[in-house]
Amino acid sequence: MTAPQPRPNVAAIPAYVAGKPPRPREGLTVHKLSSNENPYPPLPGVIEAAMAAAQQMNRYPDMGNAELYDALSARLGVPTSDLALATGSVALVYQLMHAFCHPGDEVVYAWRSFEAYPIAVAAAAATSVRVPVLPDGRHDLDAMAAAVTDRTRVVLVCTPNNPTGPAVTQAELDRFLAQVPPHVLVVVDEAYVEFVRSEDPIDGVATYRRHPHVLVTRTFSKAYGLAGFRVGYAVGPEPIAAALRAVSLPFGVSIVAQAAAVASLAAEAELLERVEALVGERSRLVAGLHDVGWDVPEPQGNFVWFELGERTLDFAAAADELGIVVRPFAGEGARVSIGEPEANDRVVELARQFPR
Ligand SMILES: *Cc1c(COP(=O)(O)O)cnc(C)c1O
Repeated sequence: MTAPQPRPNVAAIPAYVAGKPPRPREGLTVHKLSSNENPYPPLPGVIEAAMAAAQQMNRYPDMGNAELYDALSARLGVPTSDLALATGSVALVYQLMHAFCHPGDEVVYAWRSFEAYPIAVAAAAATSVRVPVLPDGRHDLDAMAAAVTDRTRVVLVCTPNNPTGPAVTQAELDRFLAQVPPHVLVVVDEAYVEFVRSEDPIDGVATYRRHPHVLVTRTFSKAYGLAGFRVGYAVGPEPIAAALRAVSLPFGVSIVAQAAAVASLAAEAELLERVEALVGERSRLVAGLHDVGWDVPEPQGNFVWFELGERTLDFAAAADELGIVVRPFAGEGARVSIGEPEANDRVVELARQFPR
């Protein structure tokens, strides 16, 4: 008798390495800078909305998550038919693979980029085609366009790119879209869109309106500080959004998550002030790093990238000694989230100990 066997691709799914929690240290406040989370506690109104929703935990969420669809529709100026909600934008990547890829179909993305991509692609038995990022951490969009074949179903553009930092500009995206054939779905992963301060930022909503093969994904996990509640959304042409909704888990977004997301949209002004503070800290950190001899790739998200090669794990260990936890990618580099000012000061100290 043979035991039940999963599909062969399942054994090939790489493990997701989550950012480690900090190790408690006597007499030292520790900071978790390993998961690009928002360091601020939730806003009072958001907590209250979530607490009130928790009173109804014996009930299923309303099937359509109508309240959140309506709030996003109003906020973005798009019809609800062009939206798809999910339990975090990671879930949207899985749903995309599920809805658009047959086994063996190709999915093109930059590398190194978001580590959930290869997992979602492998889970769908599709094939990853990785295009190395340029030495400055930016997407090599010409090479990505050249990597598209008849088998390509999806291209993932991660902007700002996690973990290297730089953002794609609207001009670069337009040039790229002109090169990609219409049968290929181009997904613009804007998980960090609120942090972008580029001279030519992407307008994702305007872009999908001009292109029937473009979908934008966003999340409440980063700027909105709801990582633990798992809410993300896609904005795209109706047939694509409908396909994502069709393969979604029923009742995926919980009532508590929905209430917190709706309250966060209502408190957007206050939340975006916090984002502004983090962007200010990002500039201060970049200047501090420059002073100690480190020029990181232009960070447009809430994190910076240190290219360290073989020194990466030593860097992570030294960070630990200073009471900060970073996200090492062994043999390549370390991603360090922007935290509170004290945490960022320690990052500069860490960099000083690690001459480039
Ligand atoms: C964090 C992140 C996401 C979103 O994650 P969720 O918490 O699942 O919404 C999506 N894409 C990138 C590139 C990220 O870094």
